[in-house]
Amino acid sequence: MTAPGENLRINGDRLWDSLMQMARIGPGIAGGNNRQTLTDADGEGRALFRRWCEDAGLSMGVDRMGTMFMTRAGTDPQALPVYVGSHLDTQPTGGKYDGVLGVLSGLELARTLNDLGIRTKHPIVVTNWTNEEGARFAPAMLASGVFAGVHTLDYAYARKDLDGKTFGEELERIGWVGDEEVGARKMHAYFEYHIEQGPILEAAGKQIGVVTHCQGLWWLEFTLTGKEAHTGSTPMLMRVNAGLAMARIMEMVQTVAMENQPGAVAGVGQVKFSPNSRNVLPGTVVSTVDLRSPDQMKLDGMRARIEAEAKQIAGALGVDCSVEAVGHFDPVTFDPTLVERVRKAAEGLGYTHMDIVSGAGHDACWAAKVAPATMVMCPCVDGLSHNEAEEISKEWAAAGADVLLHAVAETAEIVP
Ligand SMILES: [Zn+2]
Repeated sequence: MTAPGENLRINGDRLWDSLMQMARIGPGIAGGNNRQTLTDADGEGRALFRRWCEDAGLSMGVDRMGTMFMTRAGTDPQALPVYVGSHLDTQPTGGKYDGVLGVLSGLELARTLNDLGIRTKHPIVVTNWTNEEGARFAPAMLASGVFAGVHTLDYAYARKDLDGKTFGEELERIGWVGDEEVGARKMHAYFEYHIEQGPILEAAGKQIGVVTHCQGLWWLEFTLTGKEAHTGSTPMLMRVNAGLAMARIMEMVQTVAMENQPGAVAGVGQVKFSPNSRNVLPGTVVSTVDLRSPDQMKLDGMRARIEAEAKQIAGALGVDCSVEAVGHFDPVTFDPTLVERVRKAAEGLGYTHMDIVSGAGHDACWAAKVAPATMVMCPCVDGLSHNEAEEISKEWAAAGADVLLHAVAETAEIVP
């Protein structure tokens, strides 16, 4: 005899069709999407998602950050809900799947359970978190951060876009200020299904990423102060060259990352030379280093070493070096029971899988602060994301949604 729900599969065609319909809202300029948070397009996407959910019998709650919670009732009124979520907002030149796949797969699993007349003890809540991307209003994962107590509501409302409009004003303008206190909901568990946004699964030929950790990160801003001087008339031994210090620091960052393999990355993504003139030695250089690892010891060890060695390198050239931490979160270890459930679901369904660490931040990383949480990943072509050319196959999308369905159904407890 088979256990209840053992042969369940989502409807891959229906999921794909929903993804393509959502992608028509807020089209990009190169086949992707520009559906940034709290724009009119975001409002349209929310309305469509709401209509689909209500057609599937889900009831809506909205909190004061505009996060949408669409509930499929359970049979036990006392049982805490199982949450399944991600985000419908995109980067300005974003893809059709980043975030959207997770939200619409949550809807698809509710539709599948409806089709088969399956009830669960725990309610299932499909969630669309507001402003995951952080492209328009920094920082990223803003609503889930307020939900988890990382930021205050006032802080979130005061975030400004490049035109000086605030998050609070724009949320009001598109009509999505809900009445629920943010973070008041209690979760039995949280699942998030997302494209990998990296090349590892595709290169390994695996259908499913079982996500065990989310990397922690430090963003360090370096200010190097030397002496602006003429590049022609200043003798080599009399230069105080902040640009040279920068070049040596970039090499050092690479060395530190390589000496912490595997499981660490670090790189310099931004360098501003001042005055940035062909025949002037730079007097000031401001640059940022992004370093990440799922291992707290490695993460903090790399940070300390990069800071100390940067100061040494600069000092040896007579350049002043100050360092400020401008971004940080600790690594997240996802709930081992839920991780194992995802792994077993992939195995039971006959999908190839491997354990993987999330290289990017996700709402699940904040949800993990307040509930047992984990993620499922599927490959994306060439690892490309935050790019309009982001692509996945219908089969990849469906395989991950099947795994999500099984892990969620087991956690929400199918009523025989
Ligand atoms: Zn995302």
